[in-house]
Amino acid sequence: MKNAKFSTRSIWGGEKDSLAFGATQVPVVHSVSYGYDDMDDWYEVAIGNKEGHIYGRNTNPTVQAFEEKIKILEDAEAATSFSTGMAAISNTLGTFLYPGDRVISIKDTYGGTNKIFTEFLPKQQVEVVLCETGDHEAIEAEVAKGCKVLYLESPTNPTVKITDIERMAKAGKAVGALVIVDNTFATPVNQNPLELGADLVIHSATKFLGGHADALGGALCGSKKLVEAVYHYREINGATMDPMAAYLLLRGMKTLKLRVDKQNENAMAIAQYLKTFEIVDDVFYPGLEEHPGHEIAKQQMSNFGGMLSFSVKGGVETVRHLLPKLRFANRAANLGSVETIVGPSRTTSHVECTPEERAAMGIPESLIRYSAGIEDIDDLKQDLYQAFHAVSEEVATINS
Ligand SMILES: *Cc1c(COP(=O)(O)O)cnc(C)c1O
Repeated sequence: MKNAKFSTRSIWGGEKDSLAFGATQVPVVHSVSYGYDDMDDWYEVAIGNKEGHIYGRNTNPTVQAFEEKIKILEDAEAATSFSTGMAAISNTLGTFLYPGDRVISIKDTYGGTNKIFTEFLPKQQVEVVLCETGDHEAIEAEVAKGCKVLYLESPTNPTVKITDIERMAKAGKAVGALVIVDNTFATPVNQNPLELGADLVIHSATKFLGGHADALGGALCGSKKLVEAVYHYREINGATMDPMAAYLLLRGMKTLKLRVDKQNENAMAIAQYLKTFEIVDDVFYPGLEEHPGHEIAKQQMSNFGGMLSFSVKGGVETVRHLLPKLRFANRAANLGSVETIVGPSRTTSHVECTPEERAAMGIPESLIRYSAGIEDIDDLKQDLYQAFHAVSEEVATINS
Protein backbone atom coordinates (compact mmCIF):
# COMPACT_ATOMS: atom_id res chain seq x y z
CA MET A 1 0.00 0.00 0.00
CA LYS A 2 2.83 2.38 0.89
CA ASN A 3 4.20 2.47 -2.64
CA ALA A 4 0.80 2.83 -4.31
CA LYS A 5 -0.22 6.25 -5.61
CA PHE A 6 -2.79 8.41 -3.86
CA SER A 7 -5.96 7.41 -5.73
CA THR A 8 -5.06 3.72 -5.44
CA ARG A 9 -4.52 4.11 -1.72
CA SER A 10 -7.79 5.99 -1.33
CA ILE A 11 -9.68 3.08 -2.89
CA TRP A 12 -7.90 0.05 -1.44
CA GLY A 13 -6.46 1.45 1.76
CA GLY A 14 -7.56 0.37 5.21
CA GLU A 15 -10.57 -1.75 4.34
CA LYS A 16 -9.25 -5.31 4.43
CA ASP A 17 -9.43 -5.92 8.17
CA SER A 18 -13.04 -4.72 8.38
CA LEU A 19 -14.46 -6.88 5.58
CA ALA A 20 -16.71 -9.80 6.54
CA PHE A 21 -18.52 -12.74 4.86
CA GLY A 22 -16.40 -12.31 1.73
CA ALA A 23 -18.13 -9.01 1.04
CA THR A 24 -16.05 -6.69 -1.09
CA GLN A 25 -17.37 -3.61 0.73
CA VAL A 26 -16.96 -2.63 4.37
CA PRO A 27 -20.16 -3.45 6.30
CA VAL A 28 -21.91 -0.96 8.57
CA VAL A 29 -21.67 -2.62 11.94
CA HIS A 30 -24.37 -1.10 14.08
CA SER A 31 -23.76 -3.34 17.08
CA VAL A 32 -23.14 -1.41 20.30
CA SER A 33 -21.33 -4.32 21.90
CA TYR A 34 -19.27 -7.44 21.10
CA GLY A 35 -19.85 -10.75 22.88
CA TYR A 36 -17.25 -13.22 24.16
CA ASP A 37 -17.81 -16.81 25.30
CA ASP A 38 -14.21 -17.20 26.41
CA MET A 39 -13.59 -15.05 29.50
CA ASP A 40 -9.83 -15.02 28.99
CA ASP A 41 -10.23 -13.93 25.39
CA TRP A 42 -12.56 -11.14 26.46
CA TYR A 43 -10.07 -9.98 29.07
CA GLU A 44 -7.15 -9.99 26.63
CA VAL A 45 -9.10 -7.85 24.16
CA ALA A 46 -10.35 -5.56 26.94
CA ILE A 47 -6.83 -4.78 28.16
CA GLY A 48 -5.56 -4.31 24.61
CA ASN A 49 -3.35 -7.41 24.38
CA LYS A 50 -5.43 -8.81 21.55
CA GLU A 51 -7.16 -7.28 18.52
CA GLY A 52 -10.93 -7.00 18.74
CA HIS A 53 -13.85 -4.83 19.73
CA ILE A 54 -15.55 -4.46 23.09
CA TYR A 55 -17.91 -1.51 23.05
CA GLY A 56 -18.98 0.98 20.38
CA ARG A 57 -17.85 4.12 22.17
CA ASN A 58 -14.29 2.80 22.00
CA THR A 59 -13.98 1.06 18.63
CA ASN A 60 -16.11 -0.22 15.76
CA PRO A 61 -15.07 -2.14 12.60
CA THR A 62 -16.61 0.40 10.17
CA VAL A 63 -15.11 3.34 12.03
CA GLN A 64 -11.78 1.51 12.15
CA ALA A 65 -11.73 1.22 8.36
CA PHE A 66 -12.27 4.99 8.15
CA GLU A 67 -9.37 5.58 10.55
CA GLU A 68 -7.10 3.25 8.58
CA LYS A 69 -7.93 4.98 5.30
CA ILE A 70 -7.27 8.53 6.51
CA LYS A 71 -4.08 7.30 8.20
CA ILE A 72 -2.89 5.90 4.86
CA LEU A 73 -3.89 9.08 2.97
CA GLU A 74 -1.96 11.33 5.37
CA ASP A 75 0.88 8.78 5.45
CA ALA A 76 0.73 8.82 9.26
CA GLU A 77 1.72 6.26 11.85
CA ALA A 78 -1.73 6.37 13.46
CA ALA A 79 -5.16 7.96 13.18
CA THR A 80 -8.32 8.23 15.21
CA SER A 81 -11.80 9.57 14.56
CA PHE A 82 -14.48 11.77 16.11
CA SER A 83 -18.17 12.59 15.79
CA THR A 84 -17.35 15.94 14.10
CA GLY A 85 -14.40 18.09 13.09
CA MET A 86 -14.96 20.29 16.12
CA ALA A 87 -14.83 17.20 18.35
CA ALA A 88 -11.44 16.38 16.79
CA ILE A 89 -10.23 19.89 17.59
CA SER A 90 -11.68 20.18 21.11
CA ASN A 91 -10.60 16.66 22.13
CA THR A 92 -7.08 17.21 20.81
CA LEU A 93 -6.67 20.56 22.58
CA GLY A 94 -8.33 19.07 25.70
CA THR A 95 -5.81 16.24 25.76
CA PHE A 96 -2.76 18.46 25.75
CA LEU A 97 -3.72 21.78 27.37
CA TYR A 98 -3.98 22.20 31.14
CA PRO A 99 -4.20 25.21 33.49
CA GLY A 100 -1.06 27.30 33.20
CA ASP A 101 -0.22 26.10 29.69
CA ARG A 102 0.22 28.46 26.79
CA VAL A 103 -1.12 27.93 23.25
CA ILE A 104 -0.31 30.03 20.21
CA SER A 105 -2.47 30.22 17.14
CA ILE A 106 -3.64 32.61 14.44
CA LYS A 107 -6.60 34.99 14.33
CA ASP A 108 -8.16 33.38 11.26
CA THR A 109 -8.83 29.86 12.46
CA TYR A 110 -12.25 28.31 11.77
CA GLY A 111 -15.03 30.11 13.70
CA GLY A 112 -15.62 27.24 16.13
CA THR A 113 -11.90 26.83 16.79
CA ASN A 114 -11.67 30.57 17.43
CA LYS A 115 -14.43 30.22 20.05
CA ILE A 116 -12.45 27.49 21.84
CA PHE A 117 -9.49 29.88 21.95
CA THR A 118 -11.41 32.97 23.01
CA GLU A 119 -14.24 31.56 25.13
CA PHE A 120 -13.46 28.14 26.58
CA LEU A 121 -9.69 27.75 27.03
CA PRO A 122 -9.26 31.06 28.94
CA LYS A 123 -11.86 29.80 31.47
CA GLN A 124 -9.54 26.85 32.11
CA GLN A 125 -6.60 29.15 32.80
CA VAL A 126 -4.93 28.31 29.50
CA GLU A 127 -3.14 31.32 28.09
CA VAL A 128 -4.12 31.84 24.45
CA VAL A 129 -2.13 34.06 22.08
CA LEU A 130 -3.65 34.67 18.64
CA CYS A 131 -1.24 36.17 16.13
CA GLU A 132 -1.98 37.95 12.86
CA THR A 133 -2.42 35.23 10.24
CA GLY A 134 0.52 35.21 7.85
CA ASP A 135 2.73 37.32 10.13
CA HIS A 136 5.42 34.68 10.52
CA GLU A 137 7.79 36.93 12.51
CA ALA A 138 5.06 37.64 15.08
CA ILE A 139 4.27 33.95 15.48
CA GLU A 140 7.97 33.08 15.82
CA ALA A 141 8.46 35.78 18.44
CA GLU A 142 5.54 34.46 20.52
CA VAL A 143 6.59 30.83 20.08
CA ALA A 144 10.13 31.66 21.18
CA LYS A 145 8.72 32.73 24.57
CA GLY A 146 7.59 29.13 25.00
CA CYS A 147 4.30 27.28 24.45
CA LYS A 148 2.77 23.84 24.81
CA VAL A 149 0.87 23.90 21.52
CA LEU A 150 1.22 25.78 18.24
CA TYR A 151 -2.07 25.44 16.37
CA LEU A 152 -2.30 26.32 12.68
CA GLU A 153 -4.72 26.22 9.80
CA SER A 154 -3.72 26.82 6.16
CA PRO A 155 -5.46 27.87 3.97
CA THR A 156 -7.84 29.63 6.34
CA ASN A 157 -11.55 30.15 6.27
CA PRO A 158 -12.80 32.31 4.51
CA THR A 159 -10.04 34.54 3.10
CA VAL A 160 -7.75 31.55 2.34
CA LYS A 161 -4.68 33.05 4.01
CA ILE A 162 -1.54 30.94 3.94
CA THR A 163 0.86 30.10 6.76
CA ASP A 164 4.31 28.61 6.09
CA ILE A 165 3.86 25.29 7.87
CA GLU A 166 7.46 24.08 7.57
CA ARG A 167 8.86 27.32 8.96
CA MET A 168 6.33 27.41 11.81
CA ALA A 169 6.88 23.73 12.63
CA LYS A 170 10.61 24.45 13.01
CA ALA A 171 9.86 27.32 15.37
CA GLY A 172 7.49 25.13 17.40
CA LYS A 173 9.92 22.22 17.60
CA ALA A 174 12.68 24.53 18.84
CA VAL A 175 10.69 25.16 22.04
CA GLY A 176 9.30 21.63 22.34
CA ALA A 177 5.77 22.61 21.33
CA LEU A 178 3.28 20.28 19.70
CA VAL A 179 2.51 21.56 16.22
CA ILE A 180 -1.07 20.87 15.14
CA VAL A 181 -2.47 21.73 11.69
CA ASP A 182 -6.11 21.78 10.55
CA ASN A 183 -5.81 20.46 6.98
CA THR A 184 -9.53 20.54 6.15
CA PHE A 185 -9.33 23.14 3.35
CA ALA A 186 -6.31 21.66 1.60
CA THR A 187 -7.16 17.95 1.96
CA PRO A 188 -4.38 15.33 1.84
CA VAL A 189 -4.57 15.56 -1.95
CA ASN A 190 -3.06 19.05 -1.91
CA GLN A 191 -1.06 19.22 1.31
CA ASN A 192 0.56 16.90 3.86
CA PRO A 193 1.41 18.83 7.04
CA LEU A 194 3.16 15.82 8.65
CA GLU A 195 5.65 15.88 5.79
CA LEU A 196 6.16 19.59 6.47
CA GLY A 197 7.06 18.88 10.09
CA ALA A 198 3.71 19.06 11.93
CA ASP A 199 3.09 16.61 14.78
CA LEU A 200 -0.65 16.22 14.31
CA VAL A 201 -3.09 16.81 11.46
CA ILE A 202 -6.80 17.43 11.95
CA HIS A 203 -9.65 17.11 9.45
CA SER A 204 -13.28 17.96 9.46
CA ALA A 205 -14.21 14.84 7.48
CA THR A 206 -17.62 16.46 7.04
CA LYS A 207 -16.15 18.54 4.25
CA PHE A 208 -13.91 17.31 1.42
CA LEU A 209 -13.13 13.83 2.79
CA GLY A 210 -16.79 12.80 2.75
CA GLY A 211 -17.46 15.14 -0.12
CA HIS A 212 -21.22 14.61 -0.37
CA ALA A 213 -22.50 16.67 2.57
CA ASP A 214 -24.31 13.71 4.09
CA ALA A 215 -22.16 12.74 7.07
CA LEU A 216 -20.42 14.48 9.98
CA GLY A 217 -17.01 13.39 11.19
CA GLY A 218 -13.54 14.35 12.31
CA ALA A 219 -10.09 12.80 12.10
CA LEU A 220 -6.69 13.14 13.73
CA CYS A 221 -3.43 11.75 12.28
CA GLY A 222 0.08 11.63 13.71
CA SER A 223 2.45 9.49 15.76
CA LYS A 224 1.08 6.47 17.60
CA LYS A 225 1.96 7.97 20.96
CA LEU A 226 0.15 11.28 20.42
CA VAL A 227 -2.87 9.79 18.64
CA GLU A 228 -3.32 7.19 21.38
CA ALA A 229 -3.37 9.91 24.02
CA VAL A 230 -6.15 11.74 22.17
CA TYR A 231 -7.98 8.46 21.46
CA HIS A 232 -8.05 7.78 25.19
CA TYR A 233 -9.47 11.23 25.90
CA ARG A 234 -12.11 10.72 23.19
CA GLU A 235 -13.14 7.19 24.24
CA ILE A 236 -13.80 8.47 27.76
CA ASN A 237 -15.37 11.79 26.78
CA GLY A 238 -17.50 10.07 24.16
CA ALA A 239 -17.27 12.07 20.91
CA THR A 240 -17.37 8.85 18.87
CA MET A 241 -17.91 8.66 15.13
CA ASP A 242 -21.17 6.97 14.13
CA PRO A 243 -20.72 3.76 12.04
CA MET A 244 -23.15 4.96 9.38
CA ALA A 245 -21.19 8.21 9.07
CA ALA A 246 -17.98 6.18 8.83
CA TYR A 247 -19.47 4.19 5.96
CA LEU A 248 -20.54 7.28 4.04
CA LEU A 249 -17.18 8.97 4.64
CA LEU A 250 -15.31 5.85 3.50
CA ARG A 251 -17.34 5.76 0.33
CA GLY A 252 -16.67 9.44 -0.28
CA MET A 253 -12.93 9.09 0.29
CA LYS A 254 -12.62 6.61 -2.58
CA THR A 255 -13.22 9.46 -5.02
CA LEU A 256 -11.32 12.10 -3.04
CA LYS A 257 -8.62 12.66 -5.63
CA LEU A 258 -10.99 12.74 -8.59
CA ARG A 259 -13.17 15.27 -6.82
CA VAL A 260 -10.43 17.49 -5.40
CA ASP A 261 -8.51 17.57 -8.70
CA LYS A 262 -11.68 18.87 -10.36
CA GLN A 263 -12.39 21.28 -7.50
CA ASN A 264 -8.84 22.67 -7.73
CA GLU A 265 -9.37 23.24 -11.43
CA ASN A 266 -12.83 24.77 -11.08
CA ALA A 267 -11.81 27.05 -8.19
CA MET A 268 -8.87 28.42 -10.20
CA ALA A 269 -11.06 29.06 -13.23
CA ILE A 270 -13.77 30.73 -11.12
CA ALA A 271 -11.23 32.92 -9.29
CA GLN A 272 -9.89 34.17 -12.62
CA TYR A 273 -13.38 34.61 -14.04
CA LEU A 274 -14.58 36.63 -11.03
CA LYS A 275 -11.81 39.16 -11.59
CA THR A 276 -13.38 40.14 -14.91
CA PHE A 277 -16.53 41.55 -13.29
CA GLU A 278 -16.87 45.22 -12.44
CA ILE A 279 -19.10 44.43 -9.44
CA VAL A 280 -16.45 42.19 -7.82
CA ASP A 281 -14.15 44.06 -5.46
CA ASP A 282 -11.64 41.50 -4.32
CA VAL A 283 -10.97 37.85 -5.06
CA PHE A 284 -9.14 35.70 -2.53
CA TYR A 285 -7.57 32.50 -3.87
CA PRO A 286 -4.04 31.26 -3.13
CA GLY A 287 -3.70 30.16 -6.75
CA LEU A 288 -3.79 33.78 -7.93
CA GLU A 289 -0.33 35.30 -8.30
CA GLU A 290 -1.37 38.48 -6.50
CA HIS A 291 -2.50 36.53 -3.42
CA PRO A 292 -0.06 37.39 -0.60
CA GLY A 293 0.42 33.71 0.26
CA HIS A 294 0.83 32.50 -3.33
CA GLU A 295 4.57 31.77 -3.20
CA ILE A 296 4.34 29.83 0.07
CA ALA A 297 1.25 27.98 -1.15
CA LYS A 298 3.16 26.97 -4.28
CA GLN A 299 5.93 25.56 -2.07
CA GLN A 300 3.86 23.58 0.38
CA MET A 301 0.78 22.61 -1.63
CA SER A 302 0.57 20.51 -4.78
CA ASN A 303 -2.51 22.51 -5.80
CA PHE A 304 -4.47 25.42 -4.35
CA GLY A 305 -7.72 23.83 -3.24
CA GLY A 306 -11.41 24.16 -3.97
CA MET A 307 -12.11 27.13 -1.69
CA LEU A 308 -12.11 30.81 -2.58
CA SER A 309 -13.91 33.95 -1.53
CA PHE A 310 -14.76 37.30 -3.05
CA SER A 311 -16.29 40.59 -2.01
CA VAL A 312 -18.76 42.61 -4.04
CA LYS A 313 -19.53 46.30 -4.45
CA GLY A 314 -22.71 47.48 -2.77
CA GLY A 315 -22.14 45.50 0.42
CA VAL A 316 -24.67 43.20 2.02
CA GLU A 317 -27.43 44.51 -0.27
CA THR A 318 -25.69 43.09 -3.35
CA VAL A 319 -25.08 39.77 -1.57
CA ARG A 320 -28.79 39.58 -0.67
CA HIS A 321 -29.76 39.98 -4.33
CA LEU A 322 -26.93 37.98 -5.87
CA LEU A 323 -26.90 34.66 -4.05
CA PRO A 324 -30.57 33.67 -4.61
CA LYS A 325 -29.98 34.06 -8.36
CA LEU A 326 -27.43 31.27 -8.61
CA ARG A 327 -29.01 28.12 -10.01
CA PHE A 328 -26.11 25.72 -9.52
CA ALA A 329 -25.15 26.48 -5.93
CA ASN A 330 -26.48 25.65 -2.50
CA ARG A 331 -26.69 28.63 -0.21
CA ALA A 332 -25.51 26.80 2.88
CA ALA A 333 -23.01 26.71 5.74
CA ASN A 334 -20.98 23.67 4.70
CA LEU A 335 -18.22 23.31 2.10
CA GLY A 336 -16.18 20.76 0.19
CA SER A 337 -19.07 18.89 -1.38
CA VAL A 338 -19.56 17.76 -4.99
CA GLU A 339 -22.01 20.61 -5.50
CA THR A 340 -20.99 24.26 -5.47
CA ILE A 341 -21.85 25.98 -2.18
CA VAL A 342 -21.95 29.70 -1.52
CA GLY A 343 -22.55 31.73 1.60
CA PRO A 344 -21.76 35.08 3.16
CA SER A 345 -19.07 34.81 5.85
CA ARG A 346 -21.24 36.85 8.20
CA THR A 347 -23.76 33.97 8.10
CA THR A 348 -21.42 30.98 7.75
CA SER A 349 -17.84 30.69 8.99
CA HIS A 350 -17.90 33.82 11.17
CA VAL A 351 -21.53 34.03 12.30
CA GLU A 352 -20.34 33.89 15.92
CA CYS A 353 -18.41 37.15 15.55
CA THR A 354 -19.70 40.73 15.77
CA PRO A 355 -19.38 42.98 12.68
CA GLU A 356 -16.54 44.78 14.48
CA GLU A 357 -14.73 41.50 15.10
CA ARG A 358 -15.16 40.51 11.46
CA ALA A 359 -13.82 43.88 10.33
CA ALA A 360 -10.82 43.44 12.62
CA MET A 361 -10.18 40.05 10.99
CA GLY A 362 -10.26 41.61 7.51
CA ILE A 363 -13.57 39.97 6.59
CA PRO A 364 -15.74 42.45 4.65
CA GLU A 365 -19.49 42.15 5.31
CA SER A 366 -19.94 41.56 1.57
CA LEU A 367 -17.54 38.62 1.51
CA ILE A 368 -18.91 35.51 -0.18
CA ARG A 369 -17.32 32.13 0.39
CA TYR A 370 -17.34 29.93 -2.68
CA SER A 371 -16.79 26.20 -2.41
CA ALA A 372 -16.26 24.97 -5.95
CA GLY A 373 -18.13 21.80 -6.80
CA ILE A 374 -17.36 19.36 -9.57
CA GLU A 375 -19.98 20.67 -12.02
CA ASP A 376 -18.98 21.54 -15.57
CA ILE A 377 -17.02 24.80 -15.43
CA ASP A 378 -18.99 26.29 -18.35
CA ASP A 379 -22.21 25.98 -16.37
CA LEU A 380 -20.67 27.47 -13.24
CA LYS A 381 -19.34 30.45 -15.19
CA GLN A 382 -22.61 30.98 -17.04
CA ASP A 383 -24.45 30.84 -13.71
CA LEU A 384 -22.28 33.60 -12.23
CA TYR A 385 -22.61 35.61 -15.43
CA GLN A 386 -26.41 35.60 -15.43
CA ALA A 387 -26.55 36.34 -11.68
CA PHE A 388 -24.11 39.28 -11.89
CA HIS A 389 -25.99 40.79 -14.83
CA ALA A 390 -29.39 40.46 -13.19
CA VAL A 391 -28.11 41.88 -9.92
CA SER A 392 -26.38 44.85 -11.59
CA GLU A 393 -29.71 45.86 -13.09
CA GLU A 394 -31.63 45.38 -9.83
CA VAL A 395 -29.13 47.26 -7.71
CA ALA A 396 -29.04 50.05 -10.32
CA THR A 397 -32.84 50.28 -10.16
CA ILE A 398 -32.83 50.37 -6.35
CA ASN A 399 -30.24 53.15 -6.35
CA SER A 400 -31.97 55.28 -9.00
C1 LIG B 1 -16.04 22.75 9.18
C2 LIG B 1 -14.69 22.96 9.72
C3 LIG B 1 -14.36 22.54 11.01
C4 LIG B 1 -15.38 21.91 11.93
O1 LIG B 1 -15.85 20.70 11.45
P1 LIG B 1 -17.30 20.10 11.83
O2 LIG B 1 -17.27 18.76 11.19
O3 LIG B 1 -18.32 21.03 11.29
O4 LIG B 1 -17.37 20.04 13.31
C5 LIG B 1 -13.06 22.72 11.44
N1 LIG B 1 -12.13 23.31 10.66
C6 LIG B 1 -12.41 23.74 9.42
C7 LIG B 1 -11.34 24.38 8.61
C8 LIG B 1 -13.70 23.58 8.90
O5 LIG B 1 -13.97 24.02 7.67
